[in-house]
Amino acid sequence: MAIPFIDIKAQLAQVEQEIRQGFDRVFAHCQFIMGPEIKEVEEQLAAFAGAKHALTCSSGTDALLLPLMAMGIGPGDAVITTPFTFFATLESIALLGATPVVVDVDPRTFNIDPDRIELAIKALKAKDPSIHPLPKGYEALTLKAIMPVDLFGLPADYDRIMAIAKREDLQVIGDSAQGFGGVYKGRPVSSIPHVTATSFFPAKPLGVYGDGGAVFTDDDALAEVMRSVRVHGMGHDRYYNVRLGLNARFDTLQAVVLKAKLRIFPAELDARQKVAERYDEGLKGSVVTPLVPEGYRSSWAQYSVLTKGPKERDALQAALKAADIPTMIYYPIPCHRQPVFKDLGYAEGSMPVSENLSKVILSLPMHPYLTEADQQKIIEAVRKAV
Ligand SMILES: *Cc1c(COP(=O)(O)O)cnc(C)c1O
Repeated sequence: MAIPFIDIKAQLAQVEQEIRQGFDRVFAHCQFIMGPEIKEVEEQLAAFAGAKHALTCSSGTDALLLPLMAMGIGPGDAVITTPFTFFATLESIALLGATPVVVDVDPRTFNIDPDRIELAIKALKAKDPSIHPLPKGYEALTLKAIMPVDLFGLPADYDRIMAIAKREDLQVIGDSAQGFGGVYKGRPVSSIPHVTATSFFPAKPLGVYGDGGAVFTDDDALAEVMRSVRVHGMGHDRYYNVRLGLNARFDTLQAVVLKAKLRIFPAELDARQKVAERYDEGLKGSVVTPLVPEGYRSSWAQYSVLTKGPKERDALQAALKAADIPTMIYYPIPCHRQPVFKDLGYAEGSMPVSENLSKVILSLPMHPYLTEADQQKIIEAVRKAV
């Protein structure tokens, strides 16, 4: 049988009975929208995340929009982020009329490079794109926030990022759609930025059986405004609207799934860590394996390796495909080069690290139920191919 890239079926077997019983309870009370399971799972999420407030919502994309909207970020505002991420990161900023200012990543962690954040801030202040590439219209931008991404599950360099934000009076919105469950220097990654957004899309480390997401914060006022934005900008009552918002609620049925999945999540994170360690050991010397800096723990949304060059990457992917081993390229086009963002004016070569990574990176099957035997096959196939 072919090896799956992620194995949702094997996972379902762990929680199916609990979920079916939970669904029965929902069918008995029929509160499909904001039923009691929502509050229950939000309390459990907040405890796990190490945050005072957890608000569930309809997707990871909406989890990024909620804080941006609650902070009033819009036209004329800039948000610093990474181009080497899933499209939704930049999309959330641009949807609100704000401008993403991209900053290249560290070639070994794939996460936003704090030294380059400093340069971009300097360039914005001096209105001088020779210091660091800036998007079109940079002369009129006010920098409001930084949106780091915990790419592939690895926490961003938060000590540096939070220090810059404090000095410059900026908000930090962590895009932890892939990183929920990760640990940064002994703390859950979701407890560090002013607000953290995550996704419960099925393929994420903590996925449900549909769309979903959540935001985490210790800030009471921000939590209150995000709660309002989540339901059409409601005030003290649902039919009293104090701002424009979204319909961004999480479903009660998915809250049942999330409760069951959260229960097995710590064990799954340990299992992913074991899979990563076996890859590290088995692939040593054949491809560049992911770097996890001292004191960091990845949630291993992906296990991504680097080849010598673009030709080698494509050859490796073809060889694995021939051996029935699925792989993925995350991400083939860095966001600043996506057609929709051409008006930002970022030239090819403006983000060289991200542009190179997109040509030499390859993600291997990674999930908590990957057997040692299947993994050995993958390792041998990679070693044979390179
Ligand atoms: C998946 C993802 C999102 C969006 O989450 P959805 O639940 O699919 O809307 C945002 N940012 C990153 C980095 C992601 O991987």
